[in-house]
Amino acid sequence: MSTTLKLHPSHSDLESIMVSEASIKRRVKRLGAEIAETYGDEEVTVVSIINGAILFTADLLRFVPNPVRLDCIRISSYGNDTKSIGKPKMVHSLTLDVTNRHVLLIDDILDTGKTLALVTQTILKLNPASVKTCVLLDKKGRREVPFNADFVGFDIPDKFVVGYGLDFAERYRNLPCIGVLKPELQNPPEWA
Ligand code: 5GP
Ligand code: MG
Repeated sequence: MSTTLKLHPSHSDLESIMVSEASIKRRVKRLGAEIAETYGDEEVTVVSIINGAILFTADLLRFVPNPVRLDCIRISSYGNDTKSIGKPKMVHSLTLDVTNRHVLLIDDILDTGKTLALVTQTILKLNPASVKTCVLLDKKGRREVPFNADFVGFDIPDKFVVGYGLDFAERYRNLPCIGVLKPELQNPPEWA
């Protein structure tokens, strides 16, 4: 049986593709292997920062063979804009107990560092056995708070990107690649 794949219509809203679907697939598989090697046979409590990390977490965990417990937290720091609106706030917190557990925090992108610094500090207060962080993308040039992730998919330049979980005003999360939006689409009045 033959199937016709429809080209994702949102592709035409992109100025350029920064990371292709094929590169993401290859890198995610290797990241899974790095994580498995780091933890050995240990159980890992994965904490995914939603919504942005949803697609990345789902794909990555398929390549982590360890016993895994999964929890999600929600942080708010961006409005319908491409600029951070300041201090991140945890609006939905952990439901699993992380005391004496190996916690692996997963986020889509490390930018100023404020989000992961806040979440790491919050989790450390709960006395976990360890806390490590994994991000798909790292904009090292944008850091305002010193922070290094333990596992990084790709280092990228300082451009606002969408796709593979990353949104602009909640759109584009379902794009299978990571791309830069056309400038004229970054402030459409009807989305304000
Ligand atoms: P940080 O607290 O490190 O500045 O920001 C982390 C959060 O900001 C990410 O989880 C993501 O939600 C958002 N963010 C940072 N850079 C980008 C970007 O280029 N595109 C999108 N869509 N979100 C971003
Ligand atoms: Mg996010």
